[in-house]
Amino acid sequence: MRADTPVRYLRGVGPHLAEKLSRLGIGSVTDLLFHLPVRYEDRTHITHVGALRSGMRAAVEGRVELTETVIRRRRMLLCRISDGSGALTLRFFHFNQAQADALSRGARLRCYGEVLSGTSTLEMVHPEYRVLQEGQSPPDETALTPVYPATEGIAQLKLRALTTQALQMLDSAAGLLPELLPPELLDHTGMPALTAAVRYVHRPPADAPVAALVDGRHPAQQRLAFEELLAHHLSLRELRQRADRSRAWTIPGASSVEKEFRAALPFQLTGAQQRVAAEISHDLGKPHPMMRLVQGDVGCGKTLVAALAALNCMAAGYQVALMAPTELLAEQHFHNFKAWVTPYGFEPVWLTGRMPAAQRRETLANIHSGHALLIIGTHALFQEDVEFAKLALVIIDEQHRFGVHQRLALREKGAVDGSHPHQLIMTATPIPRTLAMTAYADLDVSAIDELPPGRTPVITVAVADTRRAEVAARVRAACRTGRQVYWVCPLIDESEVLQCQAAEDTATRLAVALPELHVGLVHGRLRAAQKEAVMAHFKAGELQLLVATTVIEVGVDVPNASLMIIENAERLGLAQLHQLRGRVGRGALESSCVMLYHAPLSAAARTRLQVMRATNDGFEIARRDLELRGPGEMLGTRQAGELNLRIADLNRDAALIPQVQRAASLLLEHYPEQVPLIVRRWLGENSRYGQV
Ligand code: ADP
Ligand code: MG
Repeated sequence: MRADTPVRYLRGVGPHLAEKLSRLGIGSVTDLLFHLPVRYEDRTHITHVGALRSGMRAAVEGRVELTETVIRRRRMLLCRISDGSGALTLRFFHFNQAQADALSRGARLRCYGEVLSGTSTLEMVHPEYRVLQEGQSPPDETALTPVYPATEGIAQLKLRALTTQALQMLDSAAGLLPELLPPELLDHTGMPALTAAVRYVHRPPADAPVAALVDGRHPAQQRLAFEELLAHHLSLRELRQRADRSRAWTIPGASSVEKEFRAALPFQLTGAQQRVAAEISHDLGKPHPMMRLVQGDVGCGKTLVAALAALNCMAAGYQVALMAPTELLAEQHFHNFKAWVTPYGFEPVWLTGRMPAAQRRETLANIHSGHALLIIGTHALFQEDVEFAKLALVIIDEQHRFGVHQRLALREKGAVDGSHPHQLIMTATPIPRTLAMTAYADLDVSAIDELPPGRTPVITVAVADTRRAEVAARVRAACRTGRQVYWVCPLIDESEVLQCQAAEDTATRLAVALPELHVGLVHGRLRAAQKEAVMAHFKAGELQLLVATTVIEVGVDVPNASLMIIENAERLGLAQLHQLRGRVGRGALESSCVMLYHAPLSAAARTRLQVMRATNDGFEIARRDLELRGPGEMLGTRQAGELNLRIADLNRDAALIPQVQRAASLLLEHYPEQVPLIVRRWLGENSRYGQV
């Protein structure tokens, strides 16, 4: 039996079901065996209806008292059952007549589902159930019931039946699930063999340790999680090896331009900045593309380090592209870099999606001819009609929302005559090590783990929005002493229009409440020139209070701004709060951040606000963020989709990571032929590995 035996081979799988299964990524019997339960349900005992509580998942048995089809907003079938200890309503929105008939008064049912509070009794919506024959008393389930990731049109029962068949095939066909991990690794770690682990996870035996399985910490699950993390890690390591085999221009370090620039700075680079600058310089001197992630908390001076690299590239006659996630941030970079590089005869050009056509044509011509050496902009930099002449370095700011595919696309895009650009990625959201090892294993990581001297931690408080008037008084007092203030109105609605509207309303109200202040407003719907003008006025101190949407989240740098008010702080995630707060505390002034919240707070929101009050440390905040949100959300949806872990959990399984790294090195060195097999098993045909 071959590993790629199609699911059609199984009993009861016709073209229709095969098509549905393919939507779950299941094409072969092996795929089915790796379609692992997402959780388990404990149906090993029957709960009395009277003991049910809303939110529980439970198995119950009872007799039908009443079944009726009703039409409220939509047609539904309601079935009330009772076991003498209480009554429970089963509610079905999809049903047929035969089903309704079978649920006639007096019929005995066993059902399983989540208990919800209903209008008169507790309810289960679309429970799994079966009608029991009179006198029949089926044995209770003896083992935990696996629950599979489902898709519309395939019921759990069907998936269970199919995996049962696949597991039976596994007994008779040795070749179905080849062991891909080398024996010395299995011996060394004492992990269970693959087939044993797969079997256990699909059908835990009656005496299985329930708590361990439910938590995903059973050795069988850990064995599979290990192999899954290994597959992801290997696919990235393989990509990295390919990068290491491709060519790039070598850039000499320590150009006279760089030396002059450093000497002219009004401050010393921090030790961390010097170290990271040296790492980058070393990479750029090699004939293979650098792929380096620079992590550093907001305000640690990443941009300056990137500027040093850019100067060296330009001094050698090559182009540099700097890409920022928002137009506002790109503009800021443009102004900073302009001030930094023009004294050395370099003129940055600006490219975004929203430029007048004639200007854009001219800019594109300058990029294509190689006349423009430093090109700054948004994603527009890498649109199809942009052609670089000799792009040596791509700097990506705040890119953690951007996945492996995009990194690859950028590399290909910039390639000229077989030379790929070096990539420098800057992120202010430190990525916990586990996550970095899985999501960024193709990158080298540098950390700027030191802030420039004289920075003071931001004092952070949470205040109920009923005390808005006190907060306004505080704004007035701060402005009176010459400080400047941000008032942030974050996303309170999905729509950008409404968000901007809220900011406009707030600006109007504040202008009335604080008539002596100069109030500015910046949001995403202003034209670039307008935003730029407002920011310039704020930076120059002509505006004292800046009302803004989260467009100021990243990069904005006004050291005299020392107070930030964040509206609806309870709706923001930790990473975003930390980014926003990083806009203050950038000078030596004592700074504060007031998080206005709307009561009541959910438990999660309360925790987030507590974390923000307790620490200014970006790494600590990132760690808590990972704990609270999980890696998917932390990386952004794109990367979450890319990672798409089936059984591993980056929080729970962090301890496996060092072992995974060692195993990856062992495989790449001694068993390279196994690598594509492991990657394909877990990442599928569409893996990034397959696409390159
Ligand atoms: P990041 O991009 O890491 O958030 P920036 O590069 O924008 O940080 O730097 C923040 C501010 O600190 C800028 O005003 C920058 O000029 C300043 N800065 C950078 N490095 C130093 C340093 N070594 N000493 C003092 N100030 C610095
Ligand atoms: Mg920055």
